[in-house]
Amino acid sequence: MTLAINDLKRHNQPLETALQAAMARVLDRGYYILGPECTAFEHEFSSFLGTSWAVGVGNGTDALELALRALGVQSGNYVATVANAGMYAGTAIRAVGAVPCYVDVLPGSLLIDPSALSRVLDSSQVRALVVTHLYGRMVDMAAILEVTRAYGVPVIEDCAQAHGASRLGRRAGSWGDLATFSFYPTKNLGALGDGGMVVGGDESLHARLLSLRQYGWVAKYKSDYRGGRNSRLDEIQAAVLRAKLPFLDGWNARRRQIVRRYRAELDGLGWGLPPYPDEADVVHLCVLEVERRAAVQAALVDQGVGCDVHYPIPDHRQLAYTDGVNITLPVTEAACTRVLTLPCFPEMLDAEVDLVVQACSRAVQSLRGKL
Ligand SMILES: *Cc1c(COP(=O)(O)O)cnc(C)c1O
Repeated sequence: MTLAINDLKRHNQPLETALQAAMARVLDRGYYILGPECTAFEHEFSSFLGTSWAVGVGNGTDALELALRALGVQSGNYVATVANAGMYAGTAIRAVGAVPCYVDVLPGSLLIDPSALSRVLDSSQVRALVVTHLYGRMVDMAAILEVTRAYGVPVIEDCAQAHGASRLGRRAGSWGDLATFSFYPTKNLGALGDGGMVVGGDESLHARLLSLRQYGWVAKYKSDYRGGRNSRLDEIQAAVLRAKLPFLDGWNARRRQIVRRYRAELDGLGWGLPPYPDEADVVHLCVLEVERRAAVQAALVDQGVGCDVHYPIPDHRQLAYTDGVNITLPVTEAACTRVLTLPCFPEMLDAEVDLVVQACSRAVQSLRGKL
């Protein structure tokens, strides 16, 4: 038996009664798309975050794409983002015909580097910035906004890995001009299928997003906005997410606890440990940096400990999009060869954390023997 990095069955099973009641409510009502569950969840989620409004959409990548469209990003525009976050932002940027302008990250946190951002904004005509709160680590938004305001560049926070994170008492998603969430089942707040959300404070952006998620309509069968899509959060997923939202802060607290234990126990192995999660961070993935990653992975799997790599190929090295991307991002590229994700999910038992810790120590010992 292998301990997986995440276990969705163990996560959702304790909520079975509540989830079945939520789904039955939708079935009984006979209203399946853009009904009362979606509206209620939009209100509950925006009040959880402290934003004025929220718009439910089909998934997190659509959320990014629709946010870019709402800001008026067009074909041929440049959009700044990082290259170490799984290429979701890059996919959305390409979907609107724009071109990503990659910014390197800070060593250690692996989050966007504000001074690298300044250099990119100095040298290119950037139309928008997508900031990713990677692995649940929250970007210092005050520092980023100080840079972007000087250039008048609007900011989208990609919060797909940071539901509930906060800094200076403000949640991730309440800092940027717009912010996007994914409710993919493995996320800190996950549906039982696809789901996404765009949140913000500006009323004209709100109106545009309500329209863009449904064919550009401003009323039934009347399209005023270009670039409309069909991308909606369905009633079953909204009902499921409503049932789960009250537990989010508690789940995040347990995730932080697990990483704090890993940090204490794995100190001394010579690995790059994840930053100490303070209350600002929520830990989506427990990501370390190691030398000889493939050998470490093999040694862990041998001992029944699952692990994974988030993410192995930086966006600017993906074969799908190599046009015009003749850049080097030293920190990003080095990190992609070293990052390793250990099991971390709220239902994980202390005994399972111990098992992972022992497996890591043995992996290091056996690799030293093979040097
Ligand atoms: C998961 C994820 C997304 C995309 O969400 P989907 O719902 O799968 O489209 C976007 N950005 C980040 C950082 C993610 O982790």
